[in-house]
Amino acid sequence: MPRLIFLGPPGAGKGTQAERLAAIYHTPKISTGDLLRAEVKAQTPLGCQAKVYMDAGELVPDEVLIGMVKGQLQQSPEQGWILDGFPRTLAQAEALEELLQELGQDYDYVLNLEVPDEVVVARLLARGKEQGRSDDADRSVILKRLEVYRQQTAPLIDFYEAKGRLQRVNGNQPMESVQEHLQALLEGFRRMA
Ligand code: AMP
Repeated sequence: MPRLIFLGPPGAGKGTQAERLAAIYHTPKISTGDLLRAEVKAQTPLGCQAKVYMDAGELVPDEVLIGMVKGQLQQSPEQGWILDGFPRTLAQAEALEELLQELGQDYDYVLNLEVPDEVVVARLLARGKEQGRSDDADRSVILKRLEVYRQQTAPLIDFYEAKGRLQRVNGNQPMESVQEHLQALLEGFRRMA
């Protein structure tokens, strides 16, 4: 079962593609954004704390996310996992390396979905209207999230490239084409395994 990490700016299609691959390969999707939104909705102490950062387009502190992902990775290791939205900082990426070593697991691919900024902004504005996500509805919050992405998350591209683990995928295509590309990649991997 695949173990995948999705990288890319907000609105690159990570959630959509992770969801589709999760259904095809019967692999759990671990979306930190979804997990945090569930905490916010349930008004847990963690959710109330996280909401402040999320509404501002900022990242929730690393310790919170690392603890959250650790619990998820341990749930059903034999089924693999698809990480969507984690890691988002170098500290998270380094913590993930340690965590996986501890658990005796490894990832198969780091998939970087590449999409130009103007496409991302348009997609996020549309999603804000459709889904009522407060952090997608406001242009200034979207621009903040892109800035946070550039400063804190984009360095992960070099991090994984230096390890020879990065796979670049053109995310500026129809969803179906991106999915086909990803599936072709994974089928190739399964044949080699
Ligand atoms: P997403 O649905 O992945 O776009 O995440 C929505 C929001 O949740 C982000 O803008 C952050 O505030 C927070 N979040 C999700 N994943 C992480 C993460 N790995 N590290 C820090 N904050 C996160």
